[in-house]
Amino acid sequence: MDIDVLVVGAGPTGMMLANELRLAGASTMLVDKLPQRSQLSKAGGVQSRTQEALDQRGLLEPLLALGMHQDSTAHFAGIPLPLTRGRHRLPWRSVPQVVIERVLAQHLAAHGITVRWEHALVRLTQDESEVTATFADGSSVRSRYLAAADGAHSTVRSLLGAEFPGRPGTVTVVAADVRLSSDEELTTHAWSENGHWAQVFPLGTDPQGRPLSRLALGGPGRSLDREVPVTEEEIRDGLRTVYGSRVQLLELCYARRITNAARQVAQYRHGRVFLAGDAAHIHLPIGAQGMNTGMQDALNLGWKLGAAVRGWAPEQLLDTYHTERHPVAAAVLRNVQAQSLLMDWEGTREPDLLAAKELFADMTRLRDVQYRLSAYGLWSPVAYGRTSPAVRPLRSLARWP
Ligand SMILES: Cc1cc2nc3c(=O)[nH]c(=O)nc-3n(C[C@H](O)[C@H](O)[C@H](O)COP(=O)(O)OP(=O)(O)OC[C@H]3O[C@@H](n4cnc5c(N)ncnc54)[C@H](O)[C@@H]3O)c2cc1C
Repeated sequence: MDIDVLVVGAGPTGMMLANELRLAGASTMLVDKLPQRSQLSKAGGVQSRTQEALDQRGLLEPLLALGMHQDSTAHFAGIPLPLTRGRHRLPWRSVPQVVIERVLAQHLAAHGITVRWEHALVRLTQDESEVTATFADGSSVRSRYLAAADGAHSTVRSLLGAEFPGRPGTVTVVAADVRLSSDEELTTHAWSENGHWAQVFPLGTDPQGRPLSRLALGGPGRSLDREVPVTEEEIRDGLRTVYGSRVQLLELCYARRITNAARQVAQYRHGRVFLAGDAAHIHLPIGAQGMNTGMQDALNLGWKLGAAVRGWAPEQLLDTYHTERHPVAAAVLRNVQAQSLLMDWEGTREPDLLAAKELFADMTRLRDVQYRLSAYGLWSPVAYGRTSPAVRPLRSLARWP
């Protein structure tokens, strides 16, 4: 056996998992098909529970020290939830995924775990005692377990033939990292009379220290094929339609189209192979729930695999990864679907939908409703572990508590 656990994919899920395995005393190899780390910002924030877990592992301080985070007002489907502000010791913070990945990578490297880049897994076999993974260059690795954190288009999921039920995307919206000019503070969500909308939230700063924003745009006629490149003119037009001349595009750093596809694997465990993060669940990115759910999958799986490797796991322990984490992502998919319906991504302005949204917005004047709704997206009651007022540092997951 070459290694206890092979982790495929060095995104936030894979790196978090490699760190958990390290804490649990399992030998780990972390591979990724890319030649180097992607510099795309991708997800934009960390939830309270994820921050607590990072805090316990000594990772929150270095993350916040980078000074690229901001505490944003919570929302549900674009309906602001201001009363929830200040409720949690570690409120939702906007931090670009690329920054989170940098902190995780540095931490792993300091503990002797470096990513093996250009290792694209192409083949997989398993028997009762081991898994053999083969890479594009023909090399292979034998491990006791394999964790697939290889993202939304997971090769491992395909090789397993794992069922991935759900629905394909029916609409696309533009998501872009931009620098904007505005002489006023923009509300996070704005709609025009004719159903066009824009969503803006802070995304830290660029290398020159200038504030960056994540901008999403949609509305009638704006749902184009995913492969159609996003143009500057399209973004300028979207801004003009929603804000008039109040907001100008200063710089377009990066743009893409995202869809509302929603799928989840039927089984998280396939013998000695486990699926985590986007490899197990995909949905429209609202509230950075994708990344946070994936990192919390890793928190659940890591110590269990460590216990199995070290020989103290009860027989059924590894099965609890599926039974505990499948309902979590299922709940995330449901709240994302409800939010995207209420947000009216396509700008249909259908009277029934507007009536539902008005009723919803009316109910959100109640403090308890605000707390409940913000919990879906920001504090994650479906998170792994319990939020607590004080966090004790965690040094090892290796021993039976
Ligand atoms: C362009 C983009 C924009 C996004 N924007 C947002 C957003 O605004 N908000 C939000 O919440 N979420 C967003 N997401 C989703 C969010 O980034 C994901 O939920 C998060 O990255 C999931 O982390 P992960 O580690 O599970 O998967 P990923 O981050 O996708 O990492 C998977 C890794 O596996 C590697 N890999 C894939 N196949 C193989 C293979 N065969 N062999 C070896 N390695 C392999 C990949 O190279 C990649 O590094 C975005 C995603 C993308 C791609």
